[in-house]
Amino acid sequence: MGLLKAPENTPVWVDESRCKACDLCVSVCPTGTLAMRQAPDSTLGAMVSVVHPEDCIGCKDCELACPDFAIYVAERSEYKFAKLNDAAKARAEAIKANGFRLPS
Ligand code: SF4
Ligand code: SF4
Repeated sequence: MGLLKAPENTPVWVDESRCKACDLCVSVCPTGTLAMRQAPDSTLGAMVSVVHPEDCIGCKDCELACPDFAIYVAERSEYKFAKLNDAAKARAEAIKANGFRLPS
């Protein structure tokens, strides 16, 4: 759990002021919950987005992988996470194959 208070009814959230768009969280997410998006105003021109919060399983791999403490996952006592499903796994692979962006 990070320093930010959890937004209500949100499985995973990002402190965009800390994110340096390194892609690491997207690369470890098993469910395609996360993807990078274009963000011309950010330092690296990209920003992580929570694209499918309904498929987050609460594994915390993203939070553990982030070198900048920029992404946070809700506690199991506070949020009912999804179960891992094949469609989410397939989307995660498609995002990784597409340079960490959600295929259009
Ligand atoms: S691992 Fe952290 S710094 Fe890197 S893209 Fe994800 S939230 Fe941003
Ligand atoms: S907690 Fe797990 S499933 Fe949810 S966004 Fe992070 S890595 Fe993906």
